[in-house]
Amino acid sequence: MSEPPPLHLGIDLGGTNVKTALLDAAGAIVERSVIPTQGHDGAEAVLDRMAAEALRLRDRAGGRIASAGLGVPGMIDMSTGIVIDVPNLPGHWVDVPAGPRLAAALGVPVDLINDARAFGMAEATHGAARGADTALFMTLGTGIGGAVLAHGRILFGVGGAAGEFGHLIVDPNGLRCGCGARGCVEAYASGPAIVSEANRRVRQGFTTRLADLIDGDLSGTTPEIVAQAAREGDADAIEVLSEAGRMLGLALAGAIALIAPEVVVIGGGVAGAGGVLWQSMEETCRTHCHVTDIDRIRIVPAALGYEAGVIGAAAWGARTAGEAT
Ligand SMILES: [Zn+2]
Repeated sequence: MSEPPPLHLGIDLGGTNVKTALLDAAGAIVERSVIPTQGHDGAEAVLDRMAAEALRLRDRAGGRIASAGLGVPGMIDMSTGIVIDVPNLPGHWVDVPAGPRLAAALGVPVDLINDARAFGMAEATHGAARGADTALFMTLGTGIGGAVLAHGRILFGVGGAAGEFGHLIVDPNGLRCGCGARGCVEAYASGPAIVSEANRRVRQGFTTRLADLIDGDLSGTTPEIVAQAAREGDADAIEVLSEAGRMLGLALAGAIALIAPEVVVIGGGVAGAGGVLWQSMEETCRTHCHVTDIDRIRIVPAALGYEAGVIGAAAWGARTAGEAT
């Protein structure tokens, strides 16, 4: 009897959902699922559900799990597979041995990777930076994550912390960031930062269109709604997105000077706001790029959408296990 085909498991732990996928040797997704995280049940319950879901998909695919990777939206110890802290996830995710616990349930080692590095890994392996030697990745969402591809490999650095694009400082006396520093780009251009600045303007009675779109309920403001107001010509919404884009452009100019990437890949929900934000970012970046030939650098949207996280986690597990996807 021949051995079942090898499958590469990727799991993407998110605040709302856990995404699971099995990739074949060519990197194509053969099984996928999304289940609610229900983080309030606690880390152990979430990990047990993850393992059960992975095994269910494996049985449906009729293969064997040859490698596994888990993307985590927080701090991890890549050498031990321990989740150090995930501040934005309900439940207590401090010093959780996620890798070993999943490995025991699945019968293969499970390698952890930060979710933004997983995004970079996916876009480098199967997405918008495929074939690139050097690339920069950023994800614009609730936070701003990033990754760097150097000579075909994701750069991890000390503690796997390389690529934290969101914490490049664009104003040393500026707004306080969640990390404790002042003036990180994340404090200006993350989804919550855009919403907070838009709502400040609504509260002060600046914006009429935005107030109409949310029907006066500030809890209804999203980056997408701010983008819609901007498209409809609302001056305040345009200013909010231009300023976020300007801060991103400053950070990007610095990152480009350091890395000189062939391609910059931008993903995440806030990137979808596009338009004014993207334009302002590119213009600012161009203005501040002097030592690098900006015309040779492509700045492009991500190609893989919401599945980048699972694809990257699977690619990381496969690479660590020595099996390329
Ligand atoms: Zn910060």
